[in-house]
Amino acid sequence: MPARTPLFTPVAFVGAGPGDADLLTLKALRLIAAADVVIHDRLVSADILALARPGAQLVAAGKEGFGPSTPQAVINSLITGHALAGARVVRLKGGDPVVFGRLDEEIEAIEAAGLTFEIVPGITAASAAAAAIGQSLTKRGRNAAVRFLTGHDMAGFADHDWRMLARPGEVAAIYMGKRAARFVQGRLLMHGADRATSVTVVENAARPNQRVIATTLDRLPADLDAAALSGPALTFLGLAPRAAEARISQSRQEFA
Ligand code: SAH
Repeated sequence: MPARTPLFTPVAFVGAGPGDADLLTLKALRLIAAADVVIHDRLVSADILALARPGAQLVAAGKEGFGPSTPQAVINSLITGHALAGARVVRLKGGDPVVFGRLDEEIEAIEAAGLTFEIVPGITAASAAAAAIGQSLTKRGRNAAVRFLTGHDMAGFADHDWRMLARPGEVAAIYMGKRAARFVQGRLLMHGADRATSVTVVENAARPNQRVIATTLDRLPADLDAAALSGPALTFLGLAPRAAEARISQSRQEFA
C-alpha cells in the first residue's frame, strides 16, 4: 500500500487581519470554514469567528501585554493535542501571524510533535492603520525604510536604536505602544528628536469603532491620556493623517 499522506495540513497559522472580516484572504476564509478547532487570540473579532462552521470548537487563548494571559506552554499543547488527535487546527492570529505573533514558539512545539504546518499571511495592523490615515508607509524623498517596533517585550519596555529613530523623516509603526508612550517620547527626545515630529495613534484600525489621534511627539503622552484608549492601538512615529498634513503645510505657507 502506498504511504498515506494526510489530506490536509494539520495546523494552519492563519492571519485574521485587523478585525474587518472583509480583509481576510480567501485562503483564510476557506481554512476557517473547514477547521475542526479554531484556537484564536483576543484580537480576533466576533465577525471572523462566526465564519467557523457550526460545530467547530472555538478556543480563546488570549495573550495580552500586561493583562491576564494563557501561558505559552498551554497554547502549544492545545495546538499539538488537537492536531495529534486528527483535528484540522486553525491557529488564528490577529493581523499577520509573522508580525509580533510569537509564531516561532508555536512552530517549535508543532515540529517537536512531528506535525506539519502552513502559514497564511494576513493584513498587519500597520498596513490597516496607514490605510486609515490615507498615508503610505514609505515615500520617495521622505523615508526609504519603515520599522515595525514593539513598545514592550518580555523584559519590559523594549529598547531600540533611538538615535536612528530620532532622525527627521524616519517612519516607525509601534505595536503595543500605548503604555510605552512616555518611555518612547523620553528616549527619542533624549536623542535629539524634534518635539514637533508628527505622531498618529490609530485605535481599532479597520473596525467600526476606529479612532485616529493626530498629535506630536511633544504632546503624545498627554493626548493619549486624554483619549483613554481601550482597544488595540498602533502608533506611527513620523506620520500625520493626510488631511492634517495638508492643513499643517498650508498654515506653514500662510506664515511664510
Ligand atoms: N500580529 C498582529 C500584531 C500582534 S501584537 C498584527 O500583525 O497586526 C498586538 C498589537 O497589534 C496591538 O497592541 C496593537 O498595537 C496592534 N494591533 C492589532 N490589531 C490592531 C487594530 N485593529 N488597530 C490598531 N492596532 C492593532
